Amino acid sequence: MSDVYEIETAVIGAGAVGLACARALAMTGREVVVLERAGAIGTETSSRNSEVIHAGIYYPAGSLKARACVEGRRLLHAYLEAHRLPYRQCGKFIVATDEAQAEALPAIAARARENGVEGTEEIDAVRAVKAEPQLSCLAALHSPVTGILDSHAYMLSLQGEFEDHGGVIAFHAEAEAIEVCSPGFVIQVGGDAPMRLHAREVVNAAGLHAPALGHRIEGLDPAFVPAAHFAKGSYFALSGRAPFSRLIYPAPEQAGLGIHLTLDMGGQARFGPDVEWVEPGADGGLDYSVDPARGEIFYEAIRRYWPALPAGALVPAYAGIRPKLQNPGEPPRDFCISGPDEHGLAGLVNLFGIESPGLTASLSLADYVVARLDEEY
Ligand SMILES: Cc1cc2nc3c(=O)[nH]c(=O)nc-3n(C[C@H](O)[C@H](O)[C@H](O)COP(=O)(O)OP(=O)(O)OC[C@H]3O[C@@H](n4cnc5c(N)ncnc54)[C@H](O)[C@@H]3O)c2cc1C
Repeated sequence: MSDVYEIETAVIGAGAVGLACARALAMTGREVVVLERAGAIGTETSSRNSEVIHAGIYYPAGSLKARACVEGRRLLHAYLEAHRLPYRQCGKFIVATDEAQAEALPAIAARARENGVEGTEEIDAVRAVKAEPQLSCLAALHSPVTGILDSHAYMLSLQGEFEDHGGVIAFHAEAEAIEVCSPGFVIQVGGDAPMRLHAREVVNAAGLHAPALGHRIEGLDPAFVPAAHFAKGSYFALSGRAPFSRLIYPAPEQAGLGIHLTLDMGGQARFGPDVEWVEPGADGGLDYSVDPARGEIFYEAIRRYWPALPAGALVPAYAGIRPKLQNPGEPPRDFCISGPDEHGLAGLVNLFGIESPGLTASLSLADYVVARLDEEY
């Protein structure tokens, strides 16, 4: 074991949110090292999602999810434009396929207005079907500011800017344990080149594993580490041409946004994600395989708004896992970004429960993390 190396700021995790935090911190002039246990950026949740730039419609007014999504979308849009990265503001329909859902649409529209989302409009079935002839619905909400992006191109750009500002990413470098060592922290790094790092600041952006790492921060009161729950979402790709030009979402359900249609930047359609609560295996690993038998649920859900879905057209694609803070059946929880004013450890910020819309919100969350660290100096 070598000596303790001194660094200023460590960010743990090179997903979209960790990279956005690392970039923002490096741009303040800090010397930042990202510790990533995988061999590449964005190999977990950040590459296993819908790649939708969310408008910010659904989240409770005033919640961090609502604020960070709306602000993050605007920042992301400007970022993608300025860096000429692939994205498309294709818009989306939230569709009601029964009376109960139709009655719920005005409340969703009102929440969008409360959250400051631009342009959301209730439309009747005639207008919806004129715009999307293959659609079947009773009514819809049109969100013109929703879009899609190439999440990997975005993360590569964040990495490039981070490195341009002197940042370094250490791959195959797992943060195994952290000790509080006033001032700062000593991080035990495992993997290819085990070492001990002393950092004045630590940002725990370990995604699904952030609570587990939180419990390995010696000196952090476990009361400030929420329980982790995992909700898998599987996707099926559509073989053949995409039937819609916009994203099509059913009215939202409790733990997810319903089995929706999204498009990738190549114009290919995929459906998902569904919701399946899962537990890690004995080795802590999570199972990302897609069970072809779940296709049955997909056909049924999709045919409510696209009756012409041909039999045999869905192909198992991939799955992502949502880092949830609530148990199945409990109300959704907000993002939990816990800084020194809560847990009392100067220089430490933990990001817990960064599920959707974390990709959209990433630039806003990064600014928030910098502000939380700057508060104390
Ligand atoms: C099914 C699904 C669909 C979604 N759809 C959307 C969407 O359309 N739009 C949207 O805005 N958001 C969406 N999201 C949410 C979005 O994908 C996430 O909020 C975002 O990717 C989280 O990024 P992250 O950097 O926090 O986590 P991650 O991408 O999971 O990155 C965490 C990183 O930490 C590393 N790590 C973990 N432990 C350690 C350790 N001890 N030491 C070192 N490294 C470690 C991991 O290897 C990983 O690379 C979706 C999420 C899911 C699951």
